[in-house]
Amino acid sequence: MSKPIYFDNHATTPVDPRVLEAMLPYFSDNFGNAASRNHAYGWAAEDAVEKSRKQIASLVGANSKEIVFTSGATESNNLALKGVAEMYAEKGNHIITAATEHKAVLDTCKHLEKKGCRITYLPLKGDGLIDLDMLRDSITDKTILISIMYANNEIGVLQPIKEIGKIAKEKGVLFHSDAVQAVGKVPVNVIEDSIDLMSITAHKIYGPKGAGALYVRRKSPRVQLTAQMDGGGHERGMRSGTLNVPGIAGLGAACEIAQKEMPEESVRLRGLRDKLRKTLESNLEEVYINGSMEHRLPNNLNMSFAYVEGESLLMGINDIAVSSGSACTSATLEPSYVLKALGLGDDLAHTSIRFGLGRFNTEEEVDYVAKKMIDVVNKLRELSPLWEMFKDGVDLSKVQWTAH
Ligand SMILES: *Cc1c(COP(=O)(O)O)cnc(C)c1O
Repeated sequence: MSKPIYFDNHATTPVDPRVLEAMLPYFSDNFGNAASRNHAYGWAAEDAVEKSRKQIASLVGANSKEIVFTSGATESNNLALKGVAEMYAEKGNHIITAATEHKAVLDTCKHLEKKGCRITYLPLKGDGLIDLDMLRDSITDKTILISIMYANNEIGVLQPIKEIGKIAKEKGVLFHSDAVQAVGKVPVNVIEDSIDLMSITAHKIYGPKGAGALYVRRKSPRVQLTAQMDGGGHERGMRSGTLNVPGIAGLGAACEIAQKEMPEESVRLRGLRDKLRKTLESNLEEVYINGSMEHRLPNNLNMSFAYVEGESLLMGINDIAVSSGSACTSATLEPSYVLKALGLGDDLAHTSIRFGLGRFNTEEEVDYVAKKMIDVVNKLRELSPLWEMFKDGVDLSKVQWTAH
């Protein structure tokens, strides 16, 4: 059996062969510890690390001194939130975030609540965007941090980051953004966006797993963090631990490639995504887009297919690797909390599919996926009594169901 077509690029991406090439020397020939100051092995490793810092900084408009290497975005998010909460505890204990953040932010917030922080979880509008007035109104003199993601990993919705940054600056509150899904996909600039802390990870941009970074602003304001890891004082004391030099070289190379190819690649992916959407919408009734199409990553499509059963849909398309908003595929029993935050009912959340397109997807694959989706949805609906009732004009919301 051949491998499924990979349309799950928000979960992770394959390592680009050019990235792998950039990493290889640091496993073997240049295996040095970047903290070894006394010999050429250490210097070569340090050079690779500093080169990567510059490549990352260039992609996001930062200074290379503002890049702190971590093991990935989960750690970056933890360091940003816990580091700020501890460092600025005397100033206040209030953090504002949103209901649709990644678990690495939400679970960190839960942890901080137990430690005495007060967290505001902003609700989302139906299109997946936060309400800026609500954000402004929830800031108090105890607010120390706003943490809002750049782009959502399920629905690809882009938040009004520049406006959030402006509000944060006006009010003298630090602004952290989990920008994992946005960096390398859409233009991100920490100066223009007034971002003070920003999380990124290599494996969502065709780099290796286990390598990430936190951007920490050094000027106006100079952000300070309480380290969450004690040790050798690496990364200006913010993150101790011997640096993952091959991973870091890979992250840098991934950023450089993304920066160079973004203008073309985003147009290509948007074209493929729009073709997929149009083909599905023009061949299937009762399909719904989840989240704003206007404020959205070019490579994301998230759609619900009414009157099919989520589990059967996934089984029917098992030669395509996608994610679903349905519980049955994940560890929990709840349907996607992101889709529920948009106001979706359980039924539509359960039959949602996230299509995440990436650098190595082709138009042939899009055509195949569209056709397969149409075939499977039609087939499932033929077997569905609910679909039949809907076609007969029965208003299903008024049907009195009786249990047997
Ligand atoms: C993948 C992802 C993370 C977690 O990143 P890791 O490097 O896997 O820890 C955090 N936030 C978002 C939005 C993500 O998509």
